[in-house]
Amino acid sequence: METVFQILFVLVLIIVIILAVFKPRQSATFALPDNYQELLNDYVTFYSNLDEQGKKVFDDRLQKFLSAVKITEANAEVEDLDRILIGAAAIIPVYFISDWEYVNLREVLVYPGNFNQDYEQHGNERMISGMVGTGSMENVMILSKWELRQGFINGTSNHNTAIHEFVHLIDKMDGTLDGVPELLLERKYVAQWKQLLEATMQSIRQGRSDIDAYGATSPVECFAVLAEYYFEQPEAFRSSHPELAGMMQRIFVRR
Ligand SMILES: [Zn+2]
Repeated sequence: METVFQILFVLVLIIVIILAVFKPRQSATFALPDNYQELLNDYVTFYSNLDEQGKKVFDDRLQKFLSAVKITEANAEVEDLDRILIGAAAIIPVYFISDWEYVNLREVLVYPGNFNQDYEQHGNERMISGMVGTGSMENVMILSKWELRQGFINGTSNHNTAIHEFVHLIDKMDGTLDGVPELLLERKYVAQWKQLLEATMQSIRQGRSDIDAYGATSPVECFAVLAEYYFEQPEAFRSSHPELAGMMQRIFVRR
């Protein structure tokens, strides 16, 4: 009898050792600051409009995003609020797509203000407030801290630079940055979507639209500008642009 117990003991010991050795390594989890819910409720309207269950889902996604993506100071002091806002801008557009991961993003660089095409913060052309990198900067996003905060502080505007940049990443995930998020939009709607973007750009150029003029630059910018408006002022967007809103719904909410 004693031997049976000894054998059992040894077996259990072996199993415990095996489990300890082969335990999957968990990547370091980002610790959300104690007041993160307060920050989200105060600054992020999308979040404050969610019910308790919805907020819980948002919190989990936020933590997962901030654990996976490095946020680096580039002469700007990055505070808890900035990290929370960057995470919120990442989650808002893909909130309803539960399995979405930004596999094309590794790092976000935070600059104090605007910068130019060469990522310089001084010089003549300091006009860019956000950017998704290419070439050696592939998988890197650059944001201006001032614009990041501005996008969330001003509750009545339809601008949000950080959401704009994340929408570019979503667009780019299918391999081409072209204003058509193929991973999210069913193929049967693609032609209709392209036509709608063209028509929207046309009406902006003719001064017949309340959509930001930057949207007329290209279909890529048009999509990102529309998404900012859609997520920042959903009701106004739906009533002023029902057809576009229906399409945004297909892209970001359907399923
Ligand atoms: Zn853009």
